[in-house]
This record gives sequence, structure tokens and C-alpha cells, in this order.
Amino acid sequence: MRNNGLIMLKLGGSVITVKDKALTPNTSAIRRLAEEIASSQVSPLIIVHGGGSFGHPLAAKYHIVEGFMDKSQLEGFSRTHNAMMALNMLVVEALVGEGLPAFSIAPSSLIITRRGRIQYIHKDPLAVALKLGFIPVLYGDAVLDYELGFTILSGDQILSKLAIELNANRIIIGVDVDGLYTADPKISPEAQLITYLTIDRLESLMSMLGGSRSIDVTGGMLGKIRELKVPVMNGIEVLIVNALKPNNIYRALRGEEVVGTRIIRG
Ligand code: ADP
Repeated sequence: MRNNGLIMLKLGGSVITVKDKALTPNTSAIRRLAEEIASSQVSPLIIVHGGGSFGHPLAAKYHIVEGFMDKSQLEGFSRTHNAMMALNMLVVEALVGEGLPAFSIAPSSLIITRRGRIQYIHKDPLAVALKLGFIPVLYGDAVLDYELGFTILSGDQILSKLAIELNANRIIIGVDVDGLYTADPKISPEAQLITYLTIDRLESLMSMLGGSRSIDVTGGMLGKIRELKVPVMNGIEVLIVNALKPNNIYRALRGEEVVGTRIIRG
């Protein structure tokens, strides 16, 4: 085991699901990523994954992100949460299948938000699990909210908040593109990969960036960058890589050279 401080790994919904097909996991990507994580041998590690085609279409259908408006949404809240648990089960099973001590932790049981922002997080279960050697696996979830009743909490917000609260060393974000570009690379052929970025350049860049292409109720790449600002300001290094390309997550976890976007405080 290599212990260089806590690593937070995000597996994007765009990676572990087929984003344009409702409730469809990308089974081969999940299996390969579990293998890469196992062979990297890094510890301590927390994994947070996104919802992709499991979470977002249901959340959008029942307007969960907007909060409680009428009772018919309660079923939608349950369905969204259940879909996320189903996806989480696939991820955790794959990790356990590789011999990793992965442990599913439901964000909605630990976290309560206020107007969509994390207001309270019960981090003791995470800290104790980490200490025992578990790899906690969390996800973007339907959560309860003091003002809205409920809402959707992105995996990206959970990742950033936990990174700060638990003093993480590094954040690695796996998405379906090579990193952060000057524009959405799926729409703009002239978009250029930004391989290195400091916090002061991040601000000016934020106004240029687009959201995600498919339904994403939590904000796409722009949402990620917004969340990452505080951890980067706290000195946590961020690396965004393409997790659909074999070995990128392995290399990123090992601290090896990999194509992607590095964001540091500077
Ligand atoms: P995930 O679901 O994996 O967390 P998202 O789909 O929310 O990821 O966000 C990643 C997507 O954001 C990419 O697939 C890309 O199409 C889109 N995107 C928009 N603007 C940019 C940008 N400037 N650089 C990179 N990707 C971008």
C-alpha cells in the first residue's frame, strides 16, 4: 500500500453510465476502473461517483433539484435515490470483486443541505471507516434540505467538501473528455485542452465555460470548476483526466505522468 495522504477520486456519471440511455451502466468501464484502482494500491482513498443516466433523468422528471412543491414528488425523490443506490451497488460490487474493502455510504444519511449547499455533514462514520482501512464510496444523491425540503446534491460538491473537511492531499476527477478545455470539446472543434491552471486563471476562465451536453441537473464541467475553487485555495491539488481511456486513472492515482488538467493554488 502507498500512503501519501488522502486521495479523493471522482468517477463521473459520464464515465460509469451511458449518459444518453436511461438507467444504463457502462459495465466494462466500471470493471476496468475497479481493476485500475485495485492495482494502483493507493490508500487512504475515498471514491465519489456521479449519477449520469441513473440519477439525472429521474431527478429532472420529478423536479427534485427545485425542492418540494407537492406530494407527488416524494415518489420521485425515492426513485432517484433508489436509482443512485442501484448504480452505487454496481460500482461497489466491482471494487469488492477486485478485493478492495469498498464500503457504500449514502450521502443522504450523512448530509443535509440548505438551498442546495452542504450545511451539515456527519463525518465521523467516514473518518472511522478510513481509519479501519475501508474505501468509502459515495455518490451524487437526492438529499434533504432545510429550506427546500429536498434537492439534488452533486457528487462534485460532496467531493470538494469532504476533501476540505478530511484534509485530502489530492483530488482526481475522471470524466469522459481529456480535461478542462477552453470550450466544450464536444461542441467546439477549436477547443483547446488546458493542461495547467492556477487559481487566479480559474476565475477568469469560469465565465467562458459551458455546462454538460446531456441532461445534468447539477451543472457539468462549469459546476465542477466552481466546486473545486475552495479545495484548490486550501492547497489541495486537482487533476482532471479522461477516465474512459485505459490506465489514466491508474496513472493519476500513482502520481505518474498523464494527459489532463492540473489545477493548483499557484
Ligand atoms: P460527469 O457526469 O462525468 O461528472 P459532466 O457530463 O457533468 O461529467 O461534465 C463533463 C462534460 O462537460 C464533458 O463531457 C463535456 O462535454 C462538458 N464540458 C462543457 N464545457 C467543457 C469544458 N470547457 N471543458 C471540458 N468539458 C466541458
